[in-house]
Amino acid sequence: MRPSILDPLFAPATTLSGVGPKLGKALDKLLGDETRPARVIDLLFHLPTGAVDRRPSASISDAPIGEIATFSARVAEHRPAPPGKAKAPYRIIVEDETGDVTLVFFHADIRHLLQTMPIGEYRIISGKLELWDGMRQMVHPDRIMDAKAFATLPAIEPVYGLTEGIGARVMTRIAAGAAEKCPDLAEWQDSGFHARSGFPSFITAMQALHHPPDLRAVQADTIARRRVGYDELLASQIALALVRRQQKKAAGRVTAGDGAIRRAIEATLPFSLTDGQRKAVADIHDDMEKPERMLRLLQGDVGSGKTVVALMAMAAAAEANRQSVMMAPTEILARQHAERLAPLAQSAGLKLALLTGREKGAGRRQVLEGLANGEIDIAVGTHALFQEGVVFHDLALAVVDEQHRFGVHQRLLLGSKGEAVDVLVMTATPIPRTLSLTWFGDMDISVLSEKPAGRKPIVTRAISSERHDEVVGAVGRAVDAGAQVYWVCPLVQESDTLDVAAAQERFEALREVFGAKVGLLHGQMPGRDKDAAMAAFSTGETRILVSTTVIEVGVDVPNASVMVIEHAERFGLAQLHQLRGRIGRGSAASTCLLLYKGPLGPVAEARLTIMRETEDGFRIAEEDLRLRGEGEVLGTKQSGSPDWRIARPEIDGDLLAAARDDARLLIERDPQLETPRGQAVRTLLYLFERDVAIRLLRAG
Ligand code: ADP
Ligand code: MG
Repeated sequence: MRPSILDPLFAPATTLSGVGPKLGKALDKLLGDETRPARVIDLLFHLPTGAVDRRPSASISDAPIGEIATFSARVAEHRPAPPGKAKAPYRIIVEDETGDVTLVFFHADIRHLLQTMPIGEYRIISGKLELWDGMRQMVHPDRIMDAKAFATLPAIEPVYGLTEGIGARVMTRIAAGAAEKCPDLAEWQDSGFHARSGFPSFITAMQALHHPPDLRAVQADTIARRRVGYDELLASQIALALVRRQQKKAAGRVTAGDGAIRRAIEATLPFSLTDGQRKAVADIHDDMEKPERMLRLLQGDVGSGKTVVALMAMAAAAEANRQSVMMAPTEILARQHAERLAPLAQSAGLKLALLTGREKGAGRRQVLEGLANGEIDIAVGTHALFQEGVVFHDLALAVVDEQHRFGVHQRLLLGSKGEAVDVLVMTATPIPRTLSLTWFGDMDISVLSEKPAGRKPIVTRAISSERHDEVVGAVGRAVDAGAQVYWVCPLVQESDTLDVAAAQERFEALREVFGAKVGLLHGQMPGRDKDAAMAAFSTGETRILVSTTVIEVGVDVPNASVMVIEHAERFGLAQLHQLRGRIGRGSAASTCLLLYKGPLGPVAEARLTIMRETEDGFRIAEEDLRLRGEGEVLGTKQSGSPDWRIARPEIDGDLLAAARDDARLLIERDPQLETPRGQAVRTLLYLFERDVAIRLLRAG
């Protein structure tokens, strides 16, 4: 059981003072997931992505131009818009003995300004200071405060990833509230640790991260972040070590088939398998026939045809009269897999069922019964497949698709659904061997290195968003020629600023041009509407699908040959590659248009260049690591893997190595985590939700 000292952290975010139901909902969207609301700990680990320096300058003339400036000044004059020019801004002049600044307000609430900025009073003003015609001005100051209010604000203000309904000031306040709930936990390191490493304690590190003493304190390589990152790596390494120990003990079962069902399926495929696919199927089959458990990673770039390999593996299980599950990271993908695979399975006499959180009532009961009595051979679904109440008659194989969206802890749960279940993990993310070890433990690896025959290269172009109209024209011509188009907008949920091209808005604008040919798909739509939108695009009823990145993973519509990605500069390289992998699947030539809003930073520019130059997932992954190593600060969500909230194992190699050694030593000395330090380690595992591994310890 989770130690009760952690309870305040695992309580819903709404237990924080000042977080009501409405704010709670917004937080759920940002930090929760399908199965749970946002919790205090999610806020604790939602670290600042930057910081703003609001330390005041001595005077107006000292205030830096072109940056965030903070200064105290006297309100000198209100200048309303001239009569007849209602749209002109409202201006307020503030001054001190060294100079003045014009504050500019568009669509101003004049009554409010008159109230908060009476002439003659002193105010502390903070915002971006600019020169306009040689005069200092500030458009919409971030803060206008009296001295008392100013004293309550941190001088170094952390900047958090935000979402609709949560402004910067609110987020800063509730994150501070979450940091306050952080308990002072017993140290899980040995007594010499602090002196050796120079690391602060966990709680000191957490406080420093949410209350940065200076601008450097929020960067990825500060000692506080490294401490917490190390802790996370340590938790994961200990969990993996426990799992490995267990795996060595637990024997697997022999699953041997005669190949009949596999042959039947292969005969109905509209294509023949590539050599790589054949080899992977053979590897998997060999593993399944052995009395040890299979733990195999199938690695293949997007579009390389991993799904059919999984189907053949599941067919092999069915030949031995045993069941399989295939798990997808999203509802949409699970449904698509089920739809694609059901006819193939059926033609070979297999029964396939879908199980997600949305199957309810009688339908759900039927599936659960079928799984329990063995009538259903293959279950396709989301993590609903893990839930209690899902019982299998004889589960042989679990396939986990698009691994990078799954956490280690979820993977560990798999094993509990059947004795010695064979596990096949499929990922499009090429992972260097050393990393795959730390992410997946001791896995064998099969690689699909060639793409199915007949694919044409994708032409990728980077285009300034100023040429939006031309792009719309080109999309129109492509649609007239019979193509289908994905139009991708950045995630609404993670929008930091208001100018994110929201999918909704784009949808409406494109509807004006193309009418009913345009569909919309985003994560906040109800599940039913998502299905309908996806189905309409699959069948060709809609020709242009405006979406957020929900299409990133796995979706397969071969006729789609054009992709437009808006604000491509905001996406990571791996994400762009995943997205682009949705096209170039049919026989038609494909085009990917990366719309960017300049000016581009050097890293964003390098990303777009690499995307233009290559489609090779391995090269892209390498470049991605290299660019990320060049010091971009990553927020928790950007790291792209739910396994890591703070650590960046691909970059922090030294921390990873240390964590691995420390974990090994720890387990060796205290195999059941029974000593006082062992107890503290248990708390660590709960803290980072690697606690499934604790079940593997001797009870008591
Ligand atoms: P991914 O590896 O990204 O999951 P999929 O399994 O979705 O790729 O396969 C991508 C597309 O390629 C699908 O439309 C699938 O039917 C097709 N495909 C798979 N294997 C072959 C093959 N050997 N020859 C031709 N097409 C194939
Ligand atoms: Mg896939």
